[in-house]
Amino acid sequence: MSLFEDLQQVVGEEFVLSGEEATPFLTDWRGRFTGKALAVVRPANVEEIADVVRLCQQYVTPIVTQGGNTGLCGGATPGNKGDAVVLLTNRLNNIIAIDTDNDTITVEAGCILQTIQTAAEEVGRLFPLSLASEGSCTIGGNLATNAGGTQVVRYGNARDLTLGLQVVTAEGEIWNGLKGLRKDNTGYDLRDLFIGSEGTLGIITAATLKLFPKPQAIRTALLAIKDVDAAVHVLSVLKQGFGSLLTGFELISSFCIESVRQHLPTVKIPFEVNKSPWYVLIEISDHEDQDHANQLVEKVIGNAIEQGVVQDAIIAQTVQQSNDLWHIRESIPFAEIKVGKGIKHDIAIPISQVSAFIEQTNALLQERFPGVQHIVFGHLGDGNLHYNVGAPDGQEEGFLDLQKEMNTIVYDSVARFDGSISAEHGIGQLKKDILPDYKDEIGLALMRKIKRALDPNAILNPGKVISSVELY
Ligand code: FAD
Repeated sequence: MSLFEDLQQVVGEEFVLSGEEATPFLTDWRGRFTGKALAVVRPANVEEIADVVRLCQQYVTPIVTQGGNTGLCGGATPGNKGDAVVLLTNRLNNIIAIDTDNDTITVEAGCILQTIQTAAEEVGRLFPLSLASEGSCTIGGNLATNAGGTQVVRYGNARDLTLGLQVVTAEGEIWNGLKGLRKDNTGYDLRDLFIGSEGTLGIITAATLKLFPKPQAIRTALLAIKDVDAAVHVLSVLKQGFGSLLTGFELISSFCIESVRQHLPTVKIPFEVNKSPWYVLIEISDHEDQDHANQLVEKVIGNAIEQGVVQDAIIAQTVQQSNDLWHIRESIPFAEIKVGKGIKHDIAIPISQVSAFIEQTNALLQERFPGVQHIVFGHLGDGNLHYNVGAPDGQEEGFLDLQKEMNTIVYDSVARFDGSISAEHGIGQLKKDILPDYKDEIGLALMRKIKRALDPNAILNPGKVISSVELY
């Protein structure tokens, strides 16, 4: 028997894909990485996953776990040897339980994020993780990458929203940490070890997640701001004014909005793009009622305009208008694709330093690569910027060849500001080779020891996060 035939026996022939059927799962969302695989398997449940892992252990075969394949660092794409098994979680898509007294929802790892949001809403609760990819990404992928998104300023990232996990280990054991406890100090926190490990330490098969009261009124506004310093100041003013009701704070440059207008004409943009160089999209979630939310928004934003920190504001009056404003923000990555291949940097900077970072890094890039376009937007409320660089007009060809040098300029600058080279997308294969240049040496050595202890044969997503060459 071969591994292929053994896999067929475990999950059933129709759920072991190869050839053309496997092709869609071998390239990442951005089309930057394409790999090869021995097979793409679709187990039905945790037991089948454990069986697949035990088989791969027996044949010492790499396993690349894949959820919605929306990851932006190539973590879910196999390498080129053609010896890996890609394990899809998309058949594990059940909502296992909802406990409204405990404010928890327990779900299988292959559940689409939007399905979980809807299930929470149906019982009058909120599951606040929110990303532009929520219609296709899975909760397993969200946890494996410790996803952030647009609500982190109030609710935290995927790690903060998780109480318990079930994980299949590299040995094919099933660890049942699927608890709905808010307190559990019984030793090392295994849950937090698996969250953010990008499929390199275990396969997440289910999770118990926190639910929150569903807001009674949501208000969205787009504020015109003169510069990034002002945006940081506005954040502070709004945090004082709205307190914990401030649930979203996104920085958007006018360049990004102009790209959406030019390349995605169906997206409604109800204002003149070049009126202001910067915009901030904010969201308020109020637990009283519409009137209270309206009065508060008018008061706080009115004060900010009077103080001169906000130049102008569009306050959405209907759910549709609110969706339209968010749609502009969420369309930016899609407009970027139309603009051409850009060089992306998902970085974190202390909020107070964001303006200085942008100014200094833009200047360094312009000095070395005159005319490059700065595509800057992101979750300013948590110091997370998508600091992307586009080719100068008419110079798209060969632009990606500049990536290495450009990355060095940007990431060296991030390091000078004591920031992070990956705020929310992870490391995957995209950043694994540069991680040692920017990560604390002892921290990296500890990560290697953990990897070696939990996955001694390096079968779980080898060559991602920490390169296996460095390890073994
Ligand atoms: P995949 O892409 O399938 O996998 C990602 C990584 O997780 C891989 O390393 C994979 O091996 C591992 N993995 C997947 N499932 C499991 C599992 N069950 N167990 C163990 N490992 C697993 N990310 C953000 O954080 N914030 C954003 O705002 C955001 N916006 C985005 C917008 C767009 C348009 C797109 C395309 C992506 C965006 N992303 C964002 C990135 C992406 O959606 C997230 O990283 C998401 O969490 C990935 O989920 P997935 O199911 O698609 O995972």
